[in-house]
Amino acid sequence: MTRTIAIISGKGGVGKTTLTSNLASALTLLGEDVVAIDANLTTPNLGLHVGMHFAPITLHDVLKGESKLKDAIYPHPFGFKVVPASMSVDDLTGIDPSRLYEVVLNLTGKTNFILMDSAAGLGREAVSALQATDEVLVITNPNLPSVADALKTVRLAERLDKKVIGIVANRVRKKEYELTKAEIEEMTSYPVIAQIPEDSNVTKAIFAKMPVVNYSPNSPASIEFKRLAHFLTGRPFLEKPRFHFTIIDRLVNWMIR
Ligand code: ADP
Ligand code: MG
Repeated sequence: MTRTIAIISGKGGVGKTTLTSNLASALTLLGEDVVAIDANLTTPNLGLHVGMHFAPITLHDVLKGESKLKDAIYPHPFGFKVVPASMSVDDLTGIDPSRLYEVVLNLTGKTNFILMDSAAGLGREAVSALQATDEVLVITNPNLPSVADALKTVRLAERLDKKVIGIVANRVRKKEYELTKAEIEEMTSYPVIAQIPEDSNVTKAIFAKMPVVNYSPNSPASIEFKRLAHFLTGRPFLEKPRFHFTIIDRLVNWMIR
């Protein structure tokens, strides 16, 4: 069975591409086949996040009807597959975003997961990704403007009869001036299924053009991305928080000294 999940948000810059690349890799680490599509056609950057930004044939060529989908699917060294989008402004003319639906249809049955990194907001691009998907993950930062905009995307997804799996809160610092998990759940009426902490390793990993789950597997953000991948596949997550490891490690070191 193929699950198609679009990663959507109301605001830009909240972490959609980071979530897409890390879920792709974390699900792959669990043995799942994953295709990650850069469905953010006007400002694509999935390729940049995973070091695949020089692809000769892109999703744009497919949406223009000039190339076959199979020629725009690239294997990533970490095991998942990527359908990158073109970084060139010239490629924005002549594309038909509504053909994204055909792209998804074409991949259905050939992989376990199709993840779509979508455009922010409620424009034509975002709607095309929503129309092409069955399920959505809504990502937001824990502040009022971000959640208010996320709420609009949630309502749009509902109108299009899409299954909202839940809300991912990203860049969580647990400060008193942030919205809490309970407040986000009350505003959106959906469960917050992951709280990804603010973690400088995420920025370092993007600089290194790789998912943080590979760049720094035990970093706080990586652990939460892996927890989310387990949740999506219904697997129990056995990894203990690093804190416990540190205490136990220290104890063992102390005993064998
Ligand atoms: P979007 O795709 O929604 O526009 P990105 O995934 O590109 O957002 O993230 C925007 C920027 O936010 C990234 O370049 C990264 O530096 C930063 N970022 C995202 N998630 C985190 C995090 N959990 N901790 C620290 N920085 C983050
Ligand atoms: Mg992005």
